[in-house]
Amino acid sequence: MSVRIVGPDYFDLSSLLSEEEVAVQNMTHEWVQDQFRPLIAKHYRAGTFPMELQSVMGEMGFFGSTLPEKYGTAGLNNVAYGLMMQELERGDSGLRSFASVQGALVMWPIWKYGSTEQKEKWLPILASGEKVGCFGLTEPDFGSNPGGMLTRVKQGSDSYILNGTKMWITNSPVADIAVIWAKDETGEIRGFLVERGAGGFETPEIKGKLSLRASITGEIILNNCRIPLENRLPDANGLQAPLSCLTQARYGINWGVLGAAIDCYEEAVEYAKTRTQFDKPIAAYQLTQQKLAEMLNEITKAQFMTLQLGRLKDREVMSHKQVSLSKMNNVRMAIEIARTARTVLGASGITDEYVAMRHAANLESVLTYEGTHEMHTLVVGESITGISAYR
Ligand SMILES: Cc1cc2nc3c(=O)[nH]c(=O)nc-3n(C[C@H](O)[C@H](O)[C@H](O)COP(=O)(O)OP(=O)(O)OC[C@H]3O[C@@H](n4cnc5c(N)ncnc54)[C@H](O)[C@@H]3O)c2cc1C
Repeated sequence: MSVRIVGPDYFDLSSLLSEEEVAVQNMTHEWVQDQFRPLIAKHYRAGTFPMELQSVMGEMGFFGSTLPEKYGTAGLNNVAYGLMMQELERGDSGLRSFASVQGALVMWPIWKYGSTEQKEKWLPILASGEKVGCFGLTEPDFGSNPGGMLTRVKQGSDSYILNGTKMWITNSPVADIAVIWAKDETGEIRGFLVERGAGGFETPEIKGKLSLRASITGEIILNNCRIPLENRLPDANGLQAPLSCLTQARYGINWGVLGAAIDCYEEAVEYAKTRTQFDKPIAAYQLTQQKLAEMLNEITKAQFMTLQLGRLKDREVMSHKQVSLSKMNNVRMAIEIARTARTVLGASGITDEYVAMRHAANLESVLTYEGTHEMHTLVVGESITGISAYR
């Protein structure tokens, strides 16, 4: 095959990919380089997301890309989608988060658990980027343990009434629609679509983040919030429903962080070759070469594990335990590479003229959200031993 992936390809990963998969990666890479990279430093400083890209991202097919094409999606397989997430996160974790939330945490639950009417109403306008969604599961007192949630729903004669607070919700302040998880009178977790404009629905922004600054994060306050009966996701019953959405999003994260790691690695290689100290490029010193060799080693291992994860997902046999192992490995790999790349850059590495420190700071969030590193470790531990160490 003549087409090649952009980026490290030490073990000829390209030969295991289809032309379409490589083309999606190349196309996304170019878009990020041309359209997003020039904007990121300004938005990172300001703590904003370039919302003007919302519909452009829709046109590019970045939202819900693996869902059926009849809803206006790109209709990709999971490996092509993964490579797309990789390239978006090469730009910034906030960019990939925007696409992940829209596709995996808003469109996917509507497709999986929604009614025909909900799918027809929402999926096309979410795919095109005309509307933005968010996913409200985490609460101030229930993060790793979402099953303890306090948000409650009551059914009235012609509406549902929601009460509770959701915390750390990506895009809630700009969302047109929120997928909300709440317990009903029997204690069962159900899913609901809350549209912007519903009474008793507020979404204050969380300020002061030192990580994922180019991503908008907020609360969701539900104060006797009334929604029509038809806004319940009819097939979402129990904690397994929101957890299954997280498995979708984590799959994309596993590819995404590879992009952040590659961006840092490539920057470190380039810098090491051009920065001279003691009359030699710092790339000539063994300690620098060891750093670069370790980075490439970790990226290469993660590429193959993540590709196999994608192939398993395309065969519909991927398990959440495999996603946990991969998230555990890939996010730790990426954050270590970002921190090491920063050391290669010396003082320059602490500025936003370079990517390493921004990626390192972003990856602190990625290490925590969508299940913390510790929780994924314990999921894998449970799968090895048959003993749960966390509940
Ligand atoms: C930028 C950002 C965006 C986010 N976006 C969303 C979103 O869109 N929607 C959404 O619903 N949520 C979102 N989250 C929330 C995220 O999923 C939670 O932060 C995460 O699940 C962890 O919950 P917590 O922060 O409450 O930490 P806690 O659960 O309080 O954990 C604190 C520490 O204790 C450890 N810990 C907890 N329980 C155990 C245990 N049993 N054994 C060992 N260690 C344990 C954890 O690993 C962690 O190290 C986002 C978070 C961030 C930072």
